[in-house]
Amino acid sequence: MKKDHVKEELKKLFKSLDFISNNFLNKKGISKKELHIFFNIYQQLGLTWEFLGLQCKHWNGYKKTKEAKICCKICGKIKGIGESYYMLPAKGLKIIGTKLNPNSKKTFKTKKEATIVNDIISFHGSILNVDVHNSYRSSYFGNKYAINLAAERIVSLKESGVECSIDPYLIHVKTNKTKNKRGKRKFGGFPWEIRKKDLKQFPVLFEFSENYQFLGLTIFR
Ligand SMILES: [Zn+2]
Repeated sequence: MKKDHVKEELKKLFKSLDFISNNFLNKKGISKKELHIFFNIYQQLGLTWEFLGLQCKHWNGYKKTKEAKICCKICGKIKGIGESYYMLPAKGLKIIGTKLNPNSKKTFKTKKEATIVNDIISFHGSILNVDVHNSYRSSYFGNKYAINLAAERIVSLKESGVECSIDPYLIHVKTNKTKNKRGKRKFGGFPWEIRKKDLKQFPVLFEFSENYQFLGLTIFR
């Protein structure tokens, strides 16, 4: 929606809110039943305000309210307050949030305190999780094995039983064969540590430049 349209719609909405409030909610001698109906209408208009407010880019800046709060001149939203909903275009690029990274050298007591963002979205059947946190202390088995977990930004994607997670140090791919019952024990090794005949069982193709610089890899399913 364009600025003028949003402004116009919000103006009309505020008029409706005032109308309900002045003529019904504050009306003397109104029955309980009627009051309940008008209270609900007021609440529903409030919800419309919340959604319509998502269209506002606060184009005209902010003003101070009587309660010394800073609010948008157009939609009346208090500056800096968190939104409960996102508004996304049905077509084209959808944007939620900005790229955040760890922002403190401190080690926090709990993961909750250290968390900057930990958000998840199911996008057309794929699950994407972004977990950004500062360093924190974590303990296993009581406080016996307390360890410091490093500050990091981990992005993971789950699709058709395959999980790929990316952090500053590793790109890890877990296939749905990881839990295969054929072998219970798990091993790891660099290609040169593995015998050629065993290596031949791995459906991995390395991509590299003419100088043998690693460019990427393909895993066949
Ligand atoms: Zn606004």
